[in-house]
Amino acid sequence: MSAVDEAAAALAYATLNDPTQPPPPFAPERHAAYLKRVAADAGALEYALTEYMRVSGVYWGLTAMRLLGRDAAAELGGPALVELARGCQNADGGFGGARGHDSHVLYTLSALQVLALLGALDRCDRAAAAAYVAALQQPDGSFCGDRWGEVDTRFSYCALAALALLGRLGDADVGRAAAFVDACRNFDGGYGCAPGAESHAGQVFCCVGALAIARRLDLVDRPLLCWWLAERQCDSGGLNGRPEKQADVCYSWWILSVLRMLGADHWIDGARLRSFILKCQDLPDGGIADRPGNCPDVFHTFFGVGGLSLLGALPGDRPGIDAVFALPEDVVESLGLEAQTVPRNDASLLDAWAAERRGGERAEPYCV
Ligand SMILES: [Zn+2]
Repeated sequence: MSAVDEAAAALAYATLNDPTQPPPPFAPERHAAYLKRVAADAGALEYALTEYMRVSGVYWGLTAMRLLGRDAAAELGGPALVELARGCQNADGGFGGARGHDSHVLYTLSALQVLALLGALDRCDRAAAAAYVAALQQPDGSFCGDRWGEVDTRFSYCALAALALLGRLGDADVGRAAAFVDACRNFDGGYGCAPGAESHAGQVFCCVGALAIARRLDLVDRPLLCWWLAERQCDSGGLNGRPEKQADVCYSWWILSVLRMLGADHWIDGARLRSFILKCQDLPDGGIADRPGNCPDVFHTFFGVGGLSLLGALPGDRPGIDAVFALPEDVVESLGLEAQTVPRNDASLLDAWAAERRGGERAEPYCV
């Protein structure tokens, strides 16, 4: 029995949810094997059920493999994945979730991310893709997801990130896009999917990410938002998306990435978050689940590995993840992508604010 198996066997299910119990070791080899298995198993029910978002699954898998320090293109079949992504581009210039599916800005971003990861952005019709995305912008600066007209701040992020990847950010009215996102800011400093909609951590990532690309982080109420985000840490060490909700591994990414952009990732107790993510590993079979003891999936494996990357908790020499573009840092650098972020050493004002709010007790707003 390997050391990892021994640790898994020793960790009874009940103790997984006990924050006083130490976590099992990180098992990168098993997660890489899991990602290869999922990519190869076209006959699995899960594969059929997720066809509509195939290209997003490829993005999650490729990025997680890269963060694990693996040769993702070689191990997951780079040339075939380039063809898969190219095959999702439609006559309108946008990309669907799979070949033959209608275009949507979510899948357009995923397809461009896949092509960027594989060094193949020039293999699609870039001008048509940029024109598709830019045409989704509305007079108030918001973006529709597709031709059916639903508006959501998620689409603002996808549109700006996609145009940045294409080197065509100027094709959209970036100032107006930022103004719409700002109109979705709430009394708690967070953001919702539309003006007046409840704050949600996933939405906060999209809004702050869009503002970072637009270089308008000055619009963010930094102390208030960072406080709200830090309060998402639960007793388990994991992070939730809204007050009163259970912790979930994917918020490790949505929240920590925003705190990184705003220079306040030290407001989260990183050791406790790391412990929660490690307890969400499926140690016999690989992959990471949303919560300890649940079944793993590619989405949560990506966000778990991404969260560990932001925490600096991945061993060895491997690329970090860029908090704004959600791509390995070497890919972001090679494409010359730039976004505004707040350096950690600019965070002293935030710390002073937090100390004042705590009555000088302590600077860290850990939620315990
Ligand atoms: Zn989740």
